[in-house]
Amino acid sequence: MFRYRLVPSPTQEAGLRDHCGHARFVWNLAVEQHRHWRPGRTSAPGYLEQCRQLTAARAEHEWLRAGSQMVQQQALRDFAQAMANYFGGTHGKPTWRKAGRDEGFRVVALKPGGVRRLSRHIGQVRVPKAGWIRFRWSRAVPPGTKSYRITRDRAGRWHIAFAAVPERIAGPGNGATVGIDRGVTVSAALSTGEMLMAPELSVGRKRRSRRLQRRLARGKRGSNRRERVRLALARLRARDADSRKDWAEKACTDIARRFDLIRVEDLQIRNMIRSARGTAGNPGRNVRAKSGLNREILRSGWGLLVRRLEQKAPGRVEKINPAFTSQQCSACGNVDPESRESQASFVCTACGFACNADVNAARNIAAGHAVTARGGDGVTRPMNREPQLLLQSA
Ligand SMILES: [Zn+2]
Repeated sequence: MFRYRLVPSPTQEAGLRDHCGHARFVWNLAVEQHRHWRPGRTSAPGYLEQCRQLTAARAEHEWLRAGSQMVQQQALRDFAQAMANYFGGTHGKPTWRKAGRDEGFRVVALKPGGVRRLSRHIGQVRVPKAGWIRFRWSRAVPPGTKSYRITRDRAGRWHIAFAAVPERIAGPGNGATVGIDRGVTVSAALSTGEMLMAPELSVGRKRRSRRLQRRLARGKRGSNRRERVRLALARLRARDADSRKDWAEKACTDIARRFDLIRVEDLQIRNMIRSARGTAGNPGRNVRAKSGLNREILRSGWGLLVRRLEQKAPGRVEKINPAFTSQQCSACGNVDPESRESQASFVCTACGFACNADVNAARNIAAGHAVTARGGDGVTRPMNREPQLLLQSA
């Protein structure tokens, strides 16, 4: 990911905040319009119609007119994309953006001279109506970048992310295949037996995080002290998210380089199977092995890993129907829930094959009996969405 710390001057920061405010306003307007839409009614306005309405709104409101039309139009485009993702079944429905929480805007059609390097560690980017803003040149800006997104995180830090499809990584070309399972106690297990661990909060940070959360809960709303606690907590979480992103980046570069075919379990289908069966009948995967916070970290690390893999190894990632991957013996193929001795260990009741449970599942995934989707463009398209059928065919 090509994300950099943006360091605007106070005047520039005011300009950026205006852009954020406009983008949020336009986005929320679009959410509002779509909220009233129900199946059967005439369709909610699409992107072009919304652009016409935006022009009218700009003519009416001085405040909006003072801002950048491009920023405002891009907010509509982002919304259209979010709706497309929602209808495609890969994302939830777009919701309201709140001030201070979801702050950001996009700039497109960046001209070739729109980014320049001032010194070894400092770069500059041209932002409409705000001028040249400095950012920390922490890595090379991808060549040919045409757009960027500027965001303000909850800790009040500004970031700029240049859009660029991450560089494709060539596989080894020897047909090597790997299966990856989202582990219960590790972030991911490979069929080679390797365990990948996303960085967790250290014990000290965990303790600090809990303490801050308690203080936040006790603090009086709107008080300065509570605001300070909120900022400290946000900073802690942002740092933690950064380190997980770094980790995912490195892990999937390594995997994409070492293997030609990468198989992962199709989580969309797993969730469907789970909801079809109820969770009580499938206790192996839902045991509270870790605290809520850690589980969340594992989950988000996994999603990131798969997304990145699909971008870095387009066409080489296959999604596998995960039914029974945790109960099947990867040595003899026997399926028996009893083989799952515990959360961590698998011992086959038929042939006695013993293995780490996550690695056993990864080996089944590597065997790839039921491919459900091939990732080429980072969009998941299950070929079969009927959970019952999947259970029968597995
Ligand atoms: Zn066996």
